[in-house]
Amino acid sequence: MEDRTELNTLGEFGLIERIASQQSFTHPLTVQGIGDDAAVIDGGKEYLLVSTELLAEGVHFDLSYVPLKHLGYKAVVAGISDILAMNGTPRQLTVGIAVSNRFSIEAIDTLYAGIYAACKEYEVELVGGDTTSSRAGLVLSVTAIGGVEKSKIVYRKGASAHDIICVSGDLGGAYLGLQVLEREKRVFLDDPENQPVLAGHEYVLERQLKPEARVDIIRQLRDLGIVPTSMIDISDGLASDLRQLAKASGLGVRVFEEQIPIHQKSYLTATELKLGPFTAALNGGEDYELLFTIKQEDYQKILDHTTDISFIGFVSPDPEEALFITKQNEAIPLAAQGWERTDTE
Ligand code: ADP
Ligand code: MG
Repeated sequence: MEDRTELNTLGEFGLIERIASQQSFTHPLTVQGIGDDAAVIDGGKEYLLVSTELLAEGVHFDLSYVPLKHLGYKAVVAGISDILAMNGTPRQLTVGIAVSNRFSIEAIDTLYAGIYAACKEYEVELVGGDTTSSRAGLVLSVTAIGGVEKSKIVYRKGASAHDIICVSGDLGGAYLGLQVLEREKRVFLDDPENQPVLAGHEYVLERQLKPEARVDIIRQLRDLGIVPTSMIDISDGLASDLRQLAKASGLGVRVFEEQIPIHQKSYLTATELKLGPFTAALNGGEDYELLFTIKQEDYQKILDHTTDISFIGFVSPDPEEALFITKQNEAIPLAAQGWERTDTE
């Protein structure tokens, strides 16, 4: 009998590593294979960037509260964000869909209205894809294609000890928005007469349902003549993506609770839901902000010319170190959860 090993013994990252280990990258034009936000291909004058996102109904989205137009928009944003995370410019997309006859033509039009709205916003063109039927829900796949000047490419690796860790925007909102939607779904299922109460949570709902990719940050850095030393986009949550960044450079990280950017509206929603705002920021994900490191000499330039970038910590020379320093000056391993008391906030 053939051996059978359960998938959950590996986890997502373990599975990707296993897939990657089954080949070595030898094609002369493959510059970066599996393992970064996008693959990097030598395109002659510049590097070409390619990244795929796959979204499955019931896993990544719930159509009982996610409008199809928003789903289309968000899928494109997720793809574009990975191109930006390489310091690149997104240009084209391909989109694959698997749909069942549960969906009408109008529903698919609405999905594509969202996809095209994002194409317009980010100046990218839908150039291809694939369409097939599905027996188990909607599946949506977006492949984003872009380019970057060779000397300006930024990988997950490349940070040096004492580089400053930066993050754009604010964190945790997307996760908190999801919690509001899940709560209202439960209330509705308990009694369909109940109307959802979404008022007051507009900010986090927008963060969840209509995130934006930070093309503005990439432009600002370019205008300032700053090339980050390493970069990743925050799709899994700050803690996980910080560990990925540190691991890629073979270094550690030290970040400070006080410096983590959280929107006032996110605090309010977190308080109402009795959730920790910092736990949401660290472990929530889907914020599509950019997490990057800069040389100390670039710090002042960013401080003087931009407002939407926070300095949250330092790269540490010790690869074993991945620490979160609380406001009480306690050092907690980044992997740890549950230090945050919600009853006192
Ligand atoms: P991101 O969150 O930036 O989209 P992922 O964690 O999804 O990145 O993927 C990490 C890396 O693994 C990327 O380089 C991606 O292309 C690669 N990858 C993910 N799934 C597969 C797969 N099934 N086969 C080959 N490469 C994969
Ligand atoms: Mg990414």
